Amino acid sequence: NKQVLLKNYVTGFPKESDMEIVEGSITLKVPEGSSDVVLLKNLYLSCDPYMRILMYKDTPSFTPGSPLYGFGVAKVLDSKHQDFQEGDYVWGVTGWEEYSIISSPENLFKIHHHTDVPLSYYTGILGMPGLTAYSGFFEVCGPKKGEYVFVSAAAGAVGQLVGQFAKLIGCYVVGSAGSKDKVDLLKSKFGFDEAFNYKEEHDLDAALKRYFPQGIDIYFELVGGKMLDAVLMNMRVHGRIAVCGMISQYTKEEHEGIKNTACLIYKRIRMQGFNVVDYYPLYPKFLEFLLPQIRNGEISCVEDIVGGLENGAAALVRVFNGHNIGKQVLSLMND
Ligand code: NDP
Repeated sequence: NKQVLLKNYVTGFPKESDMEIVEGSITLKVPEGSSDVVLLKNLYLSCDPYMRILMYKDTPSFTPGSPLYGFGVAKVLDSKHQDFQEGDYVWGVTGWEEYSIISSPENLFKIHHHTDVPLSYYTGILGMPGLTAYSGFFEVCGPKKGEYVFVSAAAGAVGQLVGQFAKLIGCYVVGSAGSKDKVDLLKSKFGFDEAFNYKEEHDLDAALKRYFPQGIDIYFELVGGKMLDAVLMNMRVHGRIAVCGMISQYTKEEHEGIKNTACLIYKRIRMQGFNVVDYYPLYPKFLEFLLPQIRNGEISCVEDIVGGLENGAAALVRVFNGHNIGKQVLSLMND
C-alpha cells in the first residue's frame, strides 16, 4: 500500500521534499469484528490549497510520519457499514494512499454514478470545490442579474465555476489569473467578459479601474493580500465580498495587513467569510442544478490530472506555484 507521508511541518512554500512516498502493508479486508468500517481503493485524490494550512505546526494538522488525507474518489472494496456496499463509488475524505481503511465514514458520500460524467469530477466540479462555488456565489453573495462580478484565482477549481454561474444569471464577469494561457481560457472556454494576468499588473487598483470603471458589486475572494486591498477601493455601494480563500497568505509566516478596510464603511460593503462544510445539506439541490448543465454543455470544467501516487507531492505543489490549469487532480487509476 503506497502512501504519501508528510516528512516535516512546513514553513513557507510547500516543496516536494516536505513529503515522501513509502510502501506500507495492508490486508485487503475489513478487520473481523469491526463495525461501521469501510475499505477503499482510492481512484482520484484532490489537491486542495487548505492542505497547506494543515502542514503548519500550530494548527490541528497532518502528523509528520503519517499519510496526508483529503478529498478523493474511491471504490468500496469491503464494508461493514450499512450505507456502503462492495462495488459502490464514493467521494469524501480519504487517505493519500492506494487503499484506505475508514473507520468513521460520516465524511463519505455515495456517488450515484452516471457513466456520462467522469468520476474525477467528484473531486472538483461535482465535489467540495463545486459546492463551494455554488454556495458561496448563490447563498453568500446574493447575486442579481446585471451586477458586476470579479473573481480572483479565476481559472482554478472554484473560480472557473463561480465565473460560469455569474454568466448564467446575466452578470458581467471579470477574472484574474497568473498566466496568459489561463487568461485566454477564462475568455474562450468559460465565457468571462474580460480577464487579466495579475502578475503583469504593477498597479492592481488601476487594473480594476480599467475593467470596472463603474465599480464592483460582488468580489469572490480566493487569494487575499494585495488583491483584496485593491478590490476594497473599487467596490460599489452595498457591494458584497464572499471571503472563500486567501491562498496568497497560506505560505506566509506573517499575513499581509489590509489597509483599505475603511471602505467597508463608506461603501456599506458586506464582507462575509464562509466554509463549505456549513453547506453540505445543499449538496442534493446542487447536483440537481448542475448535472443537467454539465450534460447540455452550459457549464464546463477543466481538470489538470497528474498520474501516479509517486507524483502526489509534485501535484500538490502545483496548486501553490500556479502550474495547475483548472482543478488539480491526482489519478491513481493505474496504481
Ligand atoms: P485553484 O484550483 O484555484 O488553485 C490555486 C490557484 O491559486 C493556483 O492555480 C494559482 O493560480 C493561485 N495562486 C497560488 N498562489 C497565489 C498567490 N500568491 N497569489 C494569487 N494567486 C495565487 O484552487 P481552488 O479553486 O481549489 O481554491 C481556491 C481558493 O478557495 C483557495 O484559497 C482555497 O483555500 C479556497 N477554498 C475555500 C473553501 C471554503 O470552504 N471556504 C473551499 C474550497 C476552497 P494563478 O495562476 O492564478 O496564480
